[in-house]
Amino acid sequence: MRGKQEWHMRPLALISHIQPGEKWETLDFLLVRAYEALQSYKCPHCGGWLWECSSMVAKTAYVSYSVRESFCKKTRALNQFMDNKQDGKSRAKQKEKEQWGAVHSVEAVVDKVYAKDGAKMPSITDLIESQAKNPH
Ligand SMILES: [Zn+2]
Repeated sequence: MRGKQEWHMRPLALISHIQPGEKWETLDFLLVRAYEALQSYKCPHCGGWLWECSSMVAKTAYVSYSVRESFCKKTRALNQFMDNKQDGKSRAKQKEKEQWGAVHSVEAVVDKVYAKDGAKMPSITDLIESQAKNPH
């Protein structure tokens, strides 16, 4: 089981702080199955929940996405330090420097046009209903 391989200990030990080396109980296996079921609903591209980012649900959910860019100041300082050690020809170009330590995140935004009507973020039910309407 994938969960067992990832965790290297029984799930109940993680949750209840019981001895990790004891024999697995039925609940350990059920927890792994539940974990694996949840993982199957994660997007392979962004790691978010499929019911939030899948185009199948997005058509009906009135959700758009906003990309934010920030920078890791430590990475920039380290890259600048290392770049200063290079000779003139090997130094980073300005465009490259601007991307040092770049961190991009995506925020789901409920479309303002529909928000006043009580629109909500899509749910797993929305995903399942979309998949039922449009099977692969
Ligand atoms: Zn995604």
